[in-house]
Amino acid sequence: MNMNMAGEVLTRHPFVTGGLGLCAAGAAAIWYSVLYSGSHIVAPVIKTIERNDAVALTFDDGPTPGYTDRVLDILRQHNCHASFFLIGTQVRQYPELVRRITAEGHAIGNHTWDHDHHGVWHGESYWLDQLQRTSAALADITGRAPALFRAPMGFKTPPQARAVRKGSMRYIAWRVRAWDTLNISSRTICRIVTSQLRPGDIVTMHDGLEPARKMCSQEATVQALPEILRILKQRNLTSINLDKALPGGAYQ
Ligand SMILES: [Zn+2]
Repeated sequence: MNMNMAGEVLTRHPFVTGGLGLCAAGAAAIWYSVLYSGSHIVAPVIKTIERNDAVALTFDDGPTPGYTDRVLDILRQHNCHASFFLIGTQVRQYPELVRRITAEGHAIGNHTWDHDHHGVWHGESYWLDQLQRTSAALADITGRAPALFRAPMGFKTPPQARAVRKGSMRYIAWRVRAWDTLNISSRTICRIVTSQLRPGDIVTMHDGLEPARKMCSQEATVQALPEILRILKQRNLTSINLDKALPGGAYQ
């Protein structure tokens, strides 16, 4: 029997096909519970706000000079408010941007200390440290510790969820993702966001570069934002911050 025939016989065998089916179902379950940001299996997540006159724009991975300040300028020009999920190492480097975010009426959330992509393999003590260091850095600057957490890439794991619960924090996910970390054009970002957008949606965009993407740019996000806000206004919608949008607010 040659290799092709052997392979064909094997893949037709009921135990083999059943096993492959189980593996596929297992992989799908893991994908859904851990990797899908909107899944409630590992922990409850918030993806929308209860408003029919507003959405909640959110920006991740900042604060970053050159992007965050321009996003703040544009939001001010359009009289809209947003929420910023900040990385602790960036917070330490750019405290003046953190002060400006809160001074201009936006909300702040915790997006880990260093956004390490290997974090999903770590245990509860790692996540407690990531959360506590970031919240302490933010409280040092703003006087308030955040109660909202956004997981890097939206990936949730049981040890991370235990740390979030112990820290009295809540997961914030999104219903609309701009996919603006993929080096797509501002026109595409605008189309992705506005074609899906419904009242009450939490939208995720990026005003910063996580440590693994230092060579990329969020220029297209900044350029897309005025048109997104113009279309929001056309639909009689505004953007509000999550401190105002959520019962219980955004802080401890
Ligand atoms: Zn991120």
